[in-house]
Amino acid sequence: MTQLRKNIAEMAGYVPGFQPQDVASYIKLNTNENSYPPSPKVLEAIAREVNDGLRRYPDAGSTSAREEAAKLYGFDPSWIIMANGSDEVLNNLIRAFAGEGEEIAFIHPSYSYYGTLAEIQGATVRTFGLNERFEPQGLPERYDGKIFFLTNPNAPLGFTFSKKFMIDLAGRLSSGVLVVDETYADFADDTALDLVKSLDNVVVTRTFSKSYSLAGMRVGLAIARPEVIAALNKIRDHYNLDRLAQAAAVAALKDQDYLRSVVKKTRATREWFTKELEKLGFTVIPSSGNYVFATPPDRDGGRVYQALYEKKILVRHFTDPVIAHGVRITIGTQEEMETTLAAIAAISYSSA
Ligand code: PMP
Repeated sequence: MTQLRKNIAEMAGYVPGFQPQDVASYIKLNTNENSYPPSPKVLEAIAREVNDGLRRYPDAGSTSAREEAAKLYGFDPSWIIMANGSDEVLNNLIRAFAGEGEEIAFIHPSYSYYGTLAEIQGATVRTFGLNERFEPQGLPERYDGKIFFLTNPNAPLGFTFSKKFMIDLAGRLSSGVLVVDETYADFADDTALDLVKSLDNVVVTRTFSKSYSLAGMRVGLAIARPEVIAALNKIRDHYNLDRLAQAAAVAALKDQDYLRSVVKKTRATREWFTKELEKLGFTVIPSSGNYVFATPPDRDGGRVYQALYEKKILVRHFTDPVIAHGVRITIGTQEEMETTLAAIAAISYSSA
């Protein structure tokens, strides 16, 4: 019998949110996708590439996409790497910085996939919980771990960490990097991109899966010092972005008017939905993402999930005891959220 590596044999593996086969028959608010389509210019760019390019390998350096991102964010392209979804670059950051037996850290609750990626690498994981003001607990003065992943805005809760906190945290890392996972930053008011320039141990990751409505395309990126980007370039698959993904990324980055219009609608719906849930007695954490974390009056998140599921509305319920009392609901179109609200209002809650 061949022997697997011990950590692979023992790990559970990550289970992403439910992706139904007959997706069109659901209101799907469980994986923070975007309910609006990508920019029409993205669709045109993909169609052009389908007609012209598929028999050729893609540009291994994703040059045009990197140049476009560099222009948008105000960096030299040598500070940018494109990725096959931000998951790919999170994985490669662990491979670059954390060896077997070395430690990485993240906030609990946040994106548990960091832990899975660390397990694959044989790295160990340390998590820091939050108090009721969403302040991380027990952070040491000096932290010797190799990476600290900070999801900002936090997912699934939606709050943000302050710039002051991030600077303080980066300063506590003795030799590690602070990776600010800005998957949801386009829906928020602030970004840590300036810290990539002003501090020498900060990396920012972004995705096209949420604000750009391209989850199915698998595009992400990281912004970091050129030494870090050079290391990540050694590790990644050489053709990590296919031609369609590169064409889509360029067109999406170029169409900032479209991005702004989608973000504006999503934020307006988020504020409306939050207020309406509060009228129903829910506790809703003010969110800077395209989702809200909402706790029903009887603190039974599982029942809300189940009642909505029966009406073919998918939201996310986590069995983790720290967050099992609520549900995370992606903000879809105004119409989807009106239907969802009506379904939530029809649930009878036992008095808490
Ligand atoms: N980070 C966070 C916090 C996420 O929620 C997600 C997607 N669920 C990702 C990273 C990965 O996104 P993608 O690979 O689609 O870019």
